[in-house]
Parts: sequence; structure tokens; C-alpha cells
Amino acid sequence: MDIVIIGSGIAGVSFAEKARTLLPDAEITLVTREHDGYYSRPLLSRGFTRSDIEQSIILKTFEQLRAGNINVIAGTEVTAINREEKSVSLDGPCQETSLSYDKLILAQGSAAFIPPPFLPYRELFFCLNSLTDLKALRQFRETFLNHNQHPSWAIIGGGLIGCEIASDLAVAGDDVTLFHAMDRLMERQLVAEDSDLLLNVLDDSGVNVLLNQNVHGFAEEDDKLCVTTDVAAEFDAVVVCCGFKPRTELAAQAGLEIDRGIKVNNYLQTSDPDIYALGDVAELPNGKLYAFILPIRSQSFWLAGFLAGQDNLGWTPPVFTTKAKVHGFDAVHPYIL
Ligand SMILES: Cc1cc2nc3c(=O)[nH]c(=O)nc-3n(C[C@H](O)[C@H](O)[C@H](O)COP(=O)(O)OP(=O)(O)OC[C@H]3O[C@@H](n4cnc5c(N)ncnc54)[C@H](O)[C@@H]3O)c2cc1C
Repeated sequence: MDIVIIGSGIAGVSFAEKARTLLPDAEITLVTREHDGYYSRPLLSRGFTRSDIEQSIILKTFEQLRAGNINVIAGTEVTAINREEKSVSLDGPCQETSLSYDKLILAQGSAAFIPPPFLPYRELFFCLNSLTDLKALRQFRETFLNHNQHPSWAIIGGGLIGCEIASDLAVAGDDVTLFHAMDRLMERQLVAEDSDLLLNVLDDSGVNVLLNQNVHGFAEEDDKLCVTTDVAAEFDAVVVCCGFKPRTELAAQAGLEIDRGIKVNNYLQTSDPDIYALGDVAELPNGKLYAFILPIRSQSFWLAGFLAGQDNLGWTPPVFTTKAKVHGFDAVHPYIL
């Protein structure tokens, strides 16, 4: 059996490794646009207080995966799924321009969601969704540190990732203002009492939290960036943290059913029986995306077992929780997931 996987995040790599052990005769090929190896995405938001992050974030190099008999094609984009031929088109330095599959696994993850009003300003702000993004942010910050200065940041969005980044930058010594549209932080994951606690913890770290902020846009003023709400304020840089968007484009072009994510049944099977989806990109029949490490690892192991003929009862989500990686913060109540 030829199995082709798109994506080298936790979904793609966990599936590949498990399938390797359960399906010794299968040809397993993983295609990824990444160059640096398989890395821990959750650690991105600790990328300013850990000086060795660009090395320590790598969980496995692509060489290590290849040594485990997984054919990794790195630095390469899958540009199309050709369902009739059962192949994918590739764009990259590799010799192949297409790959045939018996089973195709979609594990392309998610991009940062950019609210439509911010799109015209895309060149002006950062996001933190990938190791490439983190490297760009760290490089920008270095230019200040090299002059014994710390940059001032506007973080747009007081959800999980916005709060984590604001905390890490403030603990690293930078000047941080957090703009949030709602009247309390992480209102989707925390009860009100824990939102208040989080506000106090961020405040103690030196983060200036501004609630009920309607950010209209951004403007360049000399070497500063102006964030316009009802008033205007200037910063050295802006990071937009407004959630995530599953990468559904390839699936949509191939005519697979999509909604917020790629729609799958309880067998993680898309509307094409030979194509499966898992991780941030997959939307289950209950309408949920399980965009957390623990359920994604569970999906990956389950799917490898299913393809090896082990289980035909369907994937069920495990009991799991999360924890905001804000320095000094521990929620008192369970998270809402
Ligand atoms: C800053 C941050 C902090 C987080 N913290 C936590 C946490 O503490 N706990 C937790 O449970 N979750 C956390 N998450 C969420 C968690 O990291 C994600 O749910 C998980 O990493 C998703 O894994 P994935 O494999 O589905 O997708 P991804 O990790 O996004 O991997 C997808 C891969 O596919 C590649 N790709 C996409 N399209 C193509 C293509 N066409 N061709 C080739 N390659 C392609 C991408 O480059 C990427 O490498 C965090 C996320 C972020 C961004």
C-alpha cells in the first residue's frame, strides 16, 4: 500500500511513525513544505524567554524520520490533489513532480486567522503560527537587543495564544500592550473568575491589558506602527493573534466536502473514501475541530491502527484538558473546551 501524508506537524508525523510500526510493508511518504524538521508548535509561544529555542523546539530532524524508514520529501509544497489519478502534484526541489497514493492523509494543519479588516495591512504585522514566524519575530527583536533596547509590542487578541505571547515577551523584558475586543480575557476557555486572575497575572508581569478594544487598522508612522482603535497608539511592532484557520484549500479544489475544516466521518475519512484528514484541518461530524496535541495524537494512532485493520468502531475523542502557558498563571476552574 502507498500512503502519502501531507504535513509534518504532530498529526502527520505521529501518524507516519505509528503506521510504520503497524504496516511494515507499506510505502510511507510524507511531504512537507518545512525545512527545519518536526517541531513542537506549542513551544512557539515560549520563543522569547528561551534563548536556545530554535534548536530545542526541534523534536525530530527529517534525517531521523528517514532513518525510521519514512520517506520525507521536505521543502516541498503539495499544490493539487488529483483524485481520478489518485496522485498529488508537488512543487519543490525534489525530482518528482507528482506522487501516486493508495491512501492519502491530509494533515496540513492551520494558518493564523487574519480578520478581513486587517488584510490590507498584512505587510505591517507579524503572526506566530510557525517556526518561520518565530524566527522572523526573534530576528526583529534582536535588532533592538543589539542596541541594548527592548521593543514595544502591540498584541492584538486576548485568546490563548495572544495571552501566552504577551506574557513571554513581557517576562523577556519588552514593553507589551494587549488589545482584546471582549470584556474579559480568554472568554472562550476560562470562567470569568479565572479571566480576572489571568488579567492580574499579566498586569503583574507588566503587560498593559486593554479590554473592549475595537482595532480598526494599522498605519506606519516613521519607524513606528500605529494601532488605531477609538484612539491611536504607537508601537515598534504588532502581532495579530486572532485564532486559526484550517488549511482547507487543497481539499476544496479537489471537490472534497469542507465547512470550517475538511469534513470527516468518525473514521476520519473525507467524502473520498481513500482520503483521510486529521489534526487541525479535520472537522468531525459533531462540527468540532480538535486542535490540541492530545486528541490529535489520539487521532493519528487510531487512524494508523484502523488502516492496519485493528479497529472498526470509529475514533472517539479522549478526555483531555489544556493549560495556558502564561508565566505564573494557573486556572482555578477547569478549562472550557
Ligand atoms: C503558538 C501556539 C501555541 C500552542 N499551544 C498549544 C498547547 O499548549 N497545547 C495544545 O494542545 N495545543 C497547542 N497549540 C495547538 C497545536 O499546536 C496544534 O493543534 C497542532 O500543532 C496542530 O497539528 P497539525 O499536525 O494538525 O498541524 P500543523 O502543526 O499546523 O502542521 C501542518 C504542517 O503541514 C504543512 N503543510 C501545510 N500545507 C502544506 C502543503 N500544501 N504542502 C506541504 N506541506 C504543507 C505545514 O507547513 C505544517 O508543517 C498551539 C498552537 C500554536 C500556534
